[in-house]
Amino acid sequence: MSTNPVEERLKALTMLQVLDSKLDEIHRLRGSLPEEVSDLEDDLEGLETRKSRIGEEISRLNQDIADRKARIQEFKAAIKKYEDQQMNVKNNREYEALRKEIEYANLEILTSEKKIKQFSEQITQKEELMEQTSGRVDDKKKELDEKKQELEVIIEETKLEEKKIHEKLQEAEKFVENRFLTGYRKVRQNMRNGLAVVTTDRSACGGCFSIIPPQVHIELKQRSRMIHCENCGRILVDESFFDEVKESALEKA
Ligand SMILES: [Zn+2]
Repeated sequence: MSTNPVEERLKALTMLQVLDSKLDEIHRLRGSLPEEVSDLEDDLEGLETRKSRIGEEISRLNQDIADRKARIQEFKAAIKKYEDQQMNVKNNREYEALRKEIEYANLEILTSEKKIKQFSEQITQKEELMEQTSGRVDDKKKELDEKKQELEVIIEETKLEEKKIHEKLQEAEKFVENRFLTGYRKVRQNMRNGLAVVTTDRSACGGCFSIIPPQVHIELKQRSRMIHCENCGRILVDESFFDEVKESALEKA
């Protein structure tokens, strides 16, 4: 490459763009992972809460069964007592009263047995639900571990790369006069994709796709002046130049 001042400036600006885009990429990569990790942590917390709620419901049902069983024992004891008393009644009326007590106690026992059966069925359902939920917890935990590891690796891997890019950015900035640097930063900030230096793609601006006249294409190759897209204001460079700079910018990054 020759060393005319415009070309030097274009080279430095393209270098800045390549390095800034690389930083954007690193941040994007890292940016979504912490969110994914925290989403998974929330999911996991929700599932754990559900598990403990199901556990509480199961133990409450077990307690209900135990209560019902105790009740049955009480009524059975009562029946036995009534039957003994029936042996020693003085009249029919007393006998009949005891018979009614026994009948009532038997009904109570039946009701409790029915309840125990219902509770047992509910426990079976809850235990199935518990098992499903536990399975989901295991899956989420596995996924979370993987994402966490992925994030750690990326942070570790990119830490050094990021540091190198920052060093190169500082180096490249030295070759750009302040007003051009400010212009570059302003355009980059205003663009959603962070591109302030673009190539022309099939005679269109690579940033906004508006048509670039053929004469401008020729001028781009000459690199004798700074050319901005008239529509979006981005700095235009020709593709082979951009690729060349990109290669040299990233080779040691
Ligand atoms: Zn444009």
